[in-house]
Amino acid sequence: MKLDFLKELGIHKDNSGAFTGTWQKTEGGALTVRSPIDGSTIATVQMATAADYAAASKAAHEAFLRWRNLPAPQRGEFVRRIGNAFREKKELLGKLVTLEAGKIVQEGLGEAQECIDIADFAVGLSRQLYGLTIASERPNHHMRETWHPLGTVGIITAFNFPIAVWAWNSMLALVCGDSCLWKPSLKTPLCAIAMTNIAAEVLGKEWAPLIACVIGPDAAVGGAMLDDPHVPLVSATGSTRMGRIVGPRVAQRFGRSLLELGGNNAILVMDDADLSLAVRGIVFGAVGTAGQRCTTTRRLLVHEKVIDQLTERLATAFKQCKIGDPFEQGTLVGPLIDEASAKAFDHAIQKAKDQGGKVVCGGTRAKTSAQLSGGAYVEPAIVRAPLGVPVSFEETFAPILYVMPIQNLDQAIEANNAVPQGLSSSILTGSLRAAERFLSTSGSDCGIANVNIGTSGAEIGGAFGGEKETGGGRESGSDSWKAYMRRQTSTVNYGNTLPLAQGIKFGDD
Ligand code: NAD
Repeated sequence: MKLDFLKELGIHKDNSGAFTGTWQKTEGGALTVRSPIDGSTIATVQMATAADYAAASKAAHEAFLRWRNLPAPQRGEFVRRIGNAFREKKELLGKLVTLEAGKIVQEGLGEAQECIDIADFAVGLSRQLYGLTIASERPNHHMRETWHPLGTVGIITAFNFPIAVWAWNSMLALVCGDSCLWKPSLKTPLCAIAMTNIAAEVLGKEWAPLIACVIGPDAAVGGAMLDDPHVPLVSATGSTRMGRIVGPRVAQRFGRSLLELGGNNAILVMDDADLSLAVRGIVFGAVGTAGQRCTTTRRLLVHEKVIDQLTERLATAFKQCKIGDPFEQGTLVGPLIDEASAKAFDHAIQKAKDQGGKVVCGGTRAKTSAQLSGGAYVEPAIVRAPLGVPVSFEETFAPILYVMPIQNLDQAIEANNAVPQGLSSSILTGSLRAAERFLSTSGSDCGIANVNIGTSGAEIGGAFGGEKETGGGRESGSDSWKAYMRRQTSTVNYGNTLPLAQGIKFGDD
């Protein structure tokens, strides 16, 4: 595999795992970075230790103390230039995402585009960090709310969005006046090095510590972040298992956490749905990124009148998806991130069969060329299963689609909401009534509810996140920026007397 392009992103054969404004000499263990495409070694990273973490946190905190005083539009100007640098490096970044995370080229480029988009969004936001003015009940008084920078934002990211999730957090955090401290997944450290290098070059020596980064083990480095009083907000993206550790531990020191955790997303297909549109939306949702998106479609709740026809059409479409080298044109399904993921896939398929599910297609390891034998490739599976089959309540981070029958909309909504996760959901229907019912108060309980599109592929303009075991956090667009700031309410008296709220008389007044 040609790796020359890595140099253009500042990635070497051996890399440091701690950035405090410059890359530091680190003494943690050596991490071998392999491509999921063929298992070949790409580079090594000398990991950060707890001491390296402390140095990075200090650098980020000191940078914050200065950065918060810069007017927000000036901060936005830095972010504008970072966004432009992402634009210039889009092809290289996309290629790196493909190499290190195994996404097909189009999806790698799409992820790079998300970084550009959120930077653009953040630039506009830098002139819109509005507070409220509120009528005071007291004469000659006024009240206002002001949003102030928060501090250093700890950013923990998952392997499956190795650049975009950091960008969602850091571009907003920077315009909000915060510094950032990134702990990326150990499965995709090179993406973190590349993004840090690009942004650091724009920020220059004075401001580069704003985007500190530590690549190291969960216990020593991740744990240090969770306990760090200089990190008022930990924004953590990953499994529900991880969130169960992060949430309570950060709360224990009264820190805030923004949790973006696992999903178990359903599409409801009603009997009046456009089935051609359904097939396209479902295939992208279930098979895209080899089933490794938090918003991947994992459950299909299909009206019994159309379930046979739809399943057949889906099976035909699944079988046509080319599996293999994600760099190759035409490939739609790349590798899983590692062998452990493939084992989880095998295990879930077996469980589904044991629980009465029938594999309609796929469900086995995919045959690939000898060159790819070091990668973990699977045939995306469709499993026809009874409604409520226990395995369908779990998120298996691989391409398995459970197709289950429903008789009416109420039953479909109930089934949609029955799982512990609450990230994304969709309804495919020609009925305005059914669509609006799905979006109503007693409809889908998910953070994302779509009509006539699939569950995955969100735009950055809306707030992104989910309920229940998905963690309740919101990132990216809309007013998600508020999570990255602290709110202050001020009452100002411009009169000569001191009336008290609630009309209280105290002493002589
Ligand atoms: P993971 O939970 O294994 O790891 C995620 C990150 O958490 C990594 O950086 C990891 O090192 C870190 N981590 C794990 N334990 C930690 C601890 N004790 N202390 C500190 N850090 C710790 O998840 P993954 O396999 O990388 O990603 C897949 C999961 O992420 C799926 O469940 C997927 O649904 C979820 N995800 C959710 C969203 C979302 O926005 N809701 C987005 C992407 C991925």
